[in-house]
Amino acid sequence: MTTQKKPIIVAVDGPAGSGKSTICSEVSTKIGWSYVNTGALYRGVGLLARDRGIDLEDEAAVGAMLEKLAGEIRWDYDHHQLFCGTENLTPRLGTVEAGNAASFIAKQQKVRQLLLPVQRSLAINAPKGAMVDGRDIGTVVFPDASLKVFMTANLEERARRRLKQLDGKSGSANPSASSNQSTPSLDSIMDDIARRDNQDSKRGEAPLRKADDAVEFDTSGYSQSEAVDALIAIIRDRGLLG
Ligand code: C5P
Repeated sequence: MTTQKKPIIVAVDGPAGSGKSTICSEVSTKIGWSYVNTGALYRGVGLLARDRGIDLEDEAAVGAMLEKLAGEIRWDYDHHQLFCGTENLTPRLGTVEAGNAASFIAKQQKVRQLLLPVQRSLAINAPKGAMVDGRDIGTVVFPDASLKVFMTANLEERARRRLKQLDGKSGSANPSASSNQSTPSLDSIMDDIARRDNQDSKRGEAPLRKADDAVEFDTSGYSQSEAVDALIAIIRDRGLLG
């Protein structure tokens, strides 16, 4: 009898701009794991709906669109890019409009229900371990994850990081980096993040919250490389690096 090996999954949840995508992307590359950015999936669905002129408040229409397209959505976890069919959505994922559209459609039960198996199969099929980041990974998508991390940072620092990404200075391959739109002010980014925090944590469907068994990791005051090293140390301490 063959026993199925349990996939190694590190679930990283936290509010917008806490550094999840930048840090998880770099950690996964360093330790040779796959990276699944679930925010990119929600952003991609928001963009696809907008592109088709669908009213983002029309849950039935967004759901019907996703039902048709779900099989065509592909996350390339080596290059951290999102495709729908042959269209590469990655360059547009970091825009403020994609973030806002995502936060809007992410409240919808049908969207969450359709994206659940997509997220699970991506992570489960990763050849080694998978780093999966989002809002409900440790609470809903992988309640049995090998390790759960709740990543935070104070609001101003999160806004500064987002501004840096939008300015295109991060040099990161992560899909939260911007396309060449005009850069908003720090104040407007803080307002935008605070509004999204509020929307993400107060919604009825899979709200953002720390899982009871998650390790809290506050990245305020950490440089990117310090945060990467600290997260690798947490993963290693759990005995997940073999
Ligand atoms: O993490 P990121 O900012 O790219 O996520 C964009 C939006 O997608 C979030 O504000 C949130 O509303 C939604 N999201 C979610 N569940 C996830 C990942 C993202 O609801 N697992």
